[in-house]
Amino acid sequence: MGTPDRSRWDTRVPNGSHGWPSLTPATRTAAVEILRHGPLSRSALARRLGLSAGSVTRLVSPLLADGLVVPVGREGGIGRPSTPLDVVADGHHFAGVKLTASHGYAVLADLRSTVLTKVDAPLRGKSPGDVVASVTDLVRRCAIGFPPLTGVGVSLGGRAADHRLVTAAPYLGWSAPVDLGGLVAAATGVPTVVDNDVLALTRATHWFGAARGADRFALVTIGIGIGYGLVVHDRLVDSDDAGVGLVAHLCLDPLGPLCARGHRGCAEAMLASGKIRDAVAVGRGFVHSYEECLDLAAAGDPVAGRVVGEAGRALGRLVAMVANLTMVPTVVLSGDGVRLASVAAAAVASGLAADRDPAADPVTVDVHPGGFDEWARGAAVTAIQSYATAA
Ligand SMILES: [Zn+2]
Repeated sequence: MGTPDRSRWDTRVPNGSHGWPSLTPATRTAAVEILRHGPLSRSALARRLGLSAGSVTRLVSPLLADGLVVPVGREGGIGRPSTPLDVVADGHHFAGVKLTASHGYAVLADLRSTVLTKVDAPLRGKSPGDVVASVTDLVRRCAIGFPPLTGVGVSLGGRAADHRLVTAAPYLGWSAPVDLGGLVAAATGVPTVVDNDVLALTRATHWFGAARGADRFALVTIGIGIGYGLVVHDRLVDSDDAGVGLVAHLCLDPLGPLCARGHRGCAEAMLASGKIRDAVAVGRGFVHSYEECLDLAAAGDPVAGRVVGEAGRALGRLVAMVANLTMVPTVVLSGDGVRLASVAAAAVASGLAADRDPAADPVTVDVHPGGFDEWARGAAVTAIQSYATAA
């Protein structure tokens, strides 16, 4: 980190562009391939793109000329097909902000979403004006001492249209659409995109995270709520309904507790951190924190052990349901409550096995720790994708 210099943080992208400058679609595709999978030799890039080595050389020459891509490693000369090429990851910086009902979490990340610094703060309030002021302050604090930002991403549990307009934000109580992207862009001077938080985390998992390189996987998040994201044929399945909670109310245990909508044993009723706290409190007569419930279960407490075990089995059934219906080989588990999957690992495996045809390929369950910084990193990746793929 250098000397704080507030005058630099709000410099706009040259020419007001929100994308990699003046690249043809084919060259942009090559650049994205190197960003996602690099370092790549020209010959490896040619194989990935299905092109000849000569075509690839023509495609990457403007990237080399603009300094977006550089040769790395010491083997061979710059022009040799075997010399790996890589993006200049620290050539661009992005801020990602994850909003909860009461708090904002922000990270500053490079072009490959490596987190360089992070800050958080309570929201000033829930009104659009208060939220914009809080986001602006977080972005400003994150960016101090770094080169000018290329983009900002903001994610929240809700629905976002056109990566700009928040059309539903139940945790914030907004009843009318809010142009959050436009307001934050105007306040910071930096191009800003808005995303559903689970979609943003799925993007980060796909491009740079636990499922990097996978062309099919699902993400299930557990915590205050239950989230679900899906990548098929190397593309995120995007929908305006992503923020509605389509998976949260699937029935996993017909004898389970009730959710607020009256479902018995739905994913939310079985897995949400508040529901696990409630169930443990019924048996123990005392309200413990979610983490304490998991600690008690791990230590052999009969009440917490029963609740967490039944939750684990329900989670296994959810993983089986997702894998059976979408035929993904891998389900990544994440979210701020994901320690449940480790504490109840045997129950998760049992629930998965019960609902999976033994003749089917085993499902890989990848438990990925997911604190609020990971959610914020997801928001940064939405901004990175927007920047890297925008025409
Ligand atoms: Zn429900």
